[in-house]
Amino acid sequence: MAYTIRDILDRVDRFPRVDIIHRPTPLRKLERLSARLGGPEIYVKRDDLTGLAFGGNKSRKLEFIIADMLEKKADVVITWASLQSNWCMQTAAAARTFGIKPILMLFKAADQPATADGNVLLDVILDADIRFLEKEKGRIVKAAQAMDILEEAGRKVRAEGHRPYLVPVGGSLVRGDMDKPLGAISYVAGFAELLDQTRNGGGTEPDFVVHSTGSGGTQAGLVVGAKAMAPACRIIGISVSDPKGPFSDEVLEIARETDEALGLGLGILPDDVTVFDEYLGQGYGIVDRAVAETIRLVFQTEGIVLDPIYTAKAMIGLQDLIKTGFFKPTDKVLFLHTGGTPALFPNRDKIFGFLVKKA
Ligand SMILES: *Cc1c(COP(=O)(O)O)cnc(C)c1O
Repeated sequence: MAYTIRDILDRVDRFPRVDIIHRPTPLRKLERLSARLGGPEIYVKRDDLTGLAFGGNKSRKLEFIIADMLEKKADVVITWASLQSNWCMQTAAAARTFGIKPILMLFKAADQPATADGNVLLDVILDADIRFLEKEKGRIVKAAQAMDILEEAGRKVRAEGHRPYLVPVGGSLVRGDMDKPLGAISYVAGFAELLDQTRNGGGTEPDFVVHSTGSGGTQAGLVVGAKAMAPACRIIGISVSDPKGPFSDEVLEIARETDEALGLGLGILPDDVTVFDEYLGQGYGIVDRAVAETIRLVFQTEGIVLDPIYTAKAMIGLQDLIKTGFFKPTDKVLFLHTGGTPALFPNRDKIFGFLVKKA
């Protein structure tokens, strides 16, 4: 059974939300890029233009997560991610505007300089309480281990008379004080928004949505939204960190929790979750030549700035899927720009090296 956009938005509206983003974010056709890639019809939805602190998918999620913090009377938020995290910066920015103090646990490799650049600069300007933690080089931090560190910090903050709210990386998994998949719920609404835009623009629905996937909440929300309102539309997550097997299970888990939280009864199946892990390059956060060249290509053809950690890798995936005949020429493929552009600047030397210096 299919749900209407109105049905879905009514259900999402049962969850409290604060108003911190520009909505709807722009959606337009990328004629020049489509021509350049000789590919299907490509569209972009600009969630890099949500408006909170340089924009990005995390601010959509934070509308619901901040509202939950306010309901639970939290005065401190504690979260974690990697050093140049968009999530942590966006959380700090949103929290500050509501009088909530941010504590950020930023994991970095021993040889990674913690200079005040990119998102770290913004964290410093926000006067976030930043704690640097060391991770093994090239290793992904385990969520369970990070949550233990958050719990310990939470106990201290509580002993000082505050009410902390612990939230997992990316606001995706149901963990800590976030007892509903609020990040994913925001992207069910995000899918309704894009569907409304494509239908009202006189166009037809997208056949595919392609986006960068990291902690899974964005993809889980899109999967639920598509299954509910436009079951022919496939969501393609391009992983920037995890191998597809265990990661797909995580997306499935979040999608099922989202289906349940909204009371939709969709019965999300493993087949509803498509993840490609072929475009990780050398791993999370590693900027290579393909990343630099893809940022240049999209900037030159469309005037749109991609980020080197997430959206450039998703675009590398999209280009390759076009090249290898994954799409039909008549397919409508929507690329979701999830933001992250502050990460361009701490990667300036790499990008410069690939694009400017002659090899
Ligand atoms: C966090 C992030 C993603 C991934 O979203 P998840 O919901 O964590 O999977 C993609 N792009 C950017 C720019 C991000 O910051």
